[in-house]
This record gives sequence, C-alpha cells and structure tokens, in this order.
Amino acid sequence: MTINFERLKANINELAQIGKQEDGGIYRMAFTPKEYEARAWLENQLCQGNIDCHWDGALNIIGRIADDKNEKQPAILIGSHIDTVPNAGALDGALGVLVGLECLTRIKEEKLTTKFPLELLAFSDEEGRFGGMFGSRAVSGQLNPGILEESIDLDGQALVDVLKDLGHDPYQALDASRPNETVKCYLELHIEQGPVLDVEDLSVGIVSDITGLFKWQVQLTGAANHAGTTPMDLRKDAFMGLADFAHEIPRIIDENGSEASRLTVGNATLYPGSANTVPGKVEFSIDARDVNPEVLKELKTACRKTLSAIARRRGLQFDFTEVSVIEPVACDDHIQKSIEKQAKKLNQRYKIMPSGAAHDAQMMAKIAPIGMIFVPSKNGISHSPHEWTDWHHIEQGANLMLNTLIELSQND
Ligand SMILES: [Zn+2]
Repeated sequence: MTINFERLKANINELAQIGKQEDGGIYRMAFTPKEYEARAWLENQLCQGNIDCHWDGALNIIGRIADDKNEKQPAILIGSHIDTVPNAGALDGALGVLVGLECLTRIKEEKLTTKFPLELLAFSDEEGRFGGMFGSRAVSGQLNPGILEESIDLDGQALVDVLKDLGHDPYQALDASRPNETVKCYLELHIEQGPVLDVEDLSVGIVSDITGLFKWQVQLTGAANHAGTTPMDLRKDAFMGLADFAHEIPRIIDENGSEASRLTVGNATLYPGSANTVPGKVEFSIDARDVNPEVLKELKTACRKTLSAIARRRGLQFDFTEVSVIEPVACDDHIQKSIEKQAKKLNQRYKIMPSGAAHDAQMMAKIAPIGMIFVPSKNGISHSPHEWTDWHHIEQGANLMLNTLIELSQND
C-alpha cells in the first residue's frame, strides 16, 4: 500500500499558506488566530476523510479510527504539531501531522481492518510559546495545576488567561492525561533538523534515541578594575575564566562525552561591559546534550569540576543555576526493527541515528513505546523559511510510516 502523494503534497502546500507573511516565513504560534485557522483546516480534512475528530482538554486535536472489534484495545498514536516558531518553514511539525493524516485516510479508504484503533494527534504548543510540548506533556500526565498557573509567554500573557479567553477551562488540560493501558505505542515522523541525512544522501532516518539535555546559567565573578592600572597578574578577570572554559570544552567531550555529546556556550554577557575595564563578572549559558543519561551526568560533573578549578586558579567565584533538564529517551527496539524491515522492503536508503532535537515523542515515551522516522533537512536548516525536504524524500518517509503503521496495527 502506498500513500496518495499528490494529496499529501497539496495538503502540505495548503497548510503552508496559513500564517504565511510577506517575509516568506510562517507565523502560527500556539493559540493565536492563525493557529486556530490551521486547526479548523485540519478538522475539515479529518472530516472529509470520515475520521472522527475531537479536542481533548489540552486542546490537542485527535482523529480516531476504531471499529466494534478493536474499540476496547489500546490505540496506536501517530502525531506531531501544527504550531510553529515565528518566521518558520513549512515542514517542522506540520509534516508529521499531515503524514499521519494521509496514513489514516489511506487506511480508511482501503477499509483495512486493524487490531488496534488508530489515532492522529496534533499536539498543542510544541514550539514553546508556554514552555514547550504542552499538549504531549498533558497527554503523558506531566502537567499539574502549578505548571499551568506558572506558564507565561514572552509578552507576559498567562496560559490560563489565554485558554480562558478562547473559551476553555484551563484546568481541563489535566484531564487530557491518558493511562498507559490506552496507548499501544506512539509514532512520529519529523524533519531531521540537522545535516546528517542530507550530507550522506539518504532518504530516511530511523531514530534510535532522543537526546536529553541540561541548560545552565553560569556566573563567574571576579573584580572589575581599571584596564590600564591593574597589572596582569593582579587581575580577577571573569572573561578569562570563560575563555579558559571554552578551551576545555573539547577535552570535556573527549574525556567524559560520547559521539553524540554536544556542549555549547551560546550566550555570554560581560560586566560592566566597557572596553577599558577588566570585566568583573561574566554570565553565560551552557547547553549540554547526549542520548545517554549516564554520559549526561558525567558531563555535568566535568563542567562543574572544570569551572571550579578555573575559578580557583583565577580568583573568581563560580555559581550556576540549572535552567532546565530533559531526560534522554530510547526509541523502542521492536518498533525500530519494524521500521527497518519496512525500509528494506521499500528499498529505501536509511540510517539508524539519534535525534539531537527534542520532540513530542520524548514526552510520549513516559506512557508508551515510541518510534520516530526522520526525513532529510536540506543543508540541515530548520525553524526558517529556508527549511526544506525534497518531495521524493517526503514521499518515501510517508510510505515508510504508512507501512510501519500497518504492520504494527496487524500484529500484537
Ligand atoms: Zn517539531
């Protein structure tokens, strides 16, 4: 069985028009009028495909196919998100939802019977207007009233107020949580958002693990002093502390990391920030990622020890706050093997690879086995109007998803 590629292509192009601005970028931030237009569009597509559709308490859109025989069985979920970052491209999130829609539509058209109900989920606010992965956190039971009440966007609007203004009781988001027994597994197709498949000229990626991360905000404090009168050996130069740390990053990765490790200082501010003053303080971010929780722990220890040693050597004070932590998750072996089997059958050139970006699947792993398929991102670009994947790769990825879904839905 194959997907209807012309229909999928038309759907991708149509959805890409919603929220498109003159700069070529798509603006469809969660819970905004343009995102609501996309929701209505998706509901209409589900309706046309005769797929039952409802919203859960977290405003996730759910399309479901079930029959009398499989109604009581746990469902196979396939999903992603249709909200975007500002100035986005056409594919991130949207592609996964549209491929899911196409798979369900084809299965319905062919009147294929399945052992399990099939559901398409378009998750709310994956991109993080209110912190990220709101919908999948709700479904996987990782919300509580405190999180709801503390969630505020960059304009200072509270999530609870935004949901109320849209006519929803925000606390119903807590009702979206699903017991493990109701979910057989979760599948997601996504653009890679990195350059690996494109560089190696492959059609699809089979995701083995999704990276975890920790983010720190670090402060090194020394003494601000005159750049002319303070001898070099009497300085407590906070910037030199950061420079030392930057030089240690390759060693930390070599000694404590793995091939999947990434360590980035993406933001730094010097104080007082004047050209003729020795900087008395530097604040900078550390973003560290790996797919193995043990390796992440080692990276943490190494960063802490390295910064402490540097601080001692340079007479600085070292403080940090942990801004966020996301645990890495492994994709399910059995599902990975099913995807691989189908990729071989379809003669697709694939690679088994980790995901360096976070996805809804990461949250869903809390309640069910997960599997993910990647398609190449041209030049590794995403979150940009330049984000693109060749149509023939999209077609291959979609066919791989359809055939995997069918196999998983036919066997226990
Ligand atoms: Zn995404």
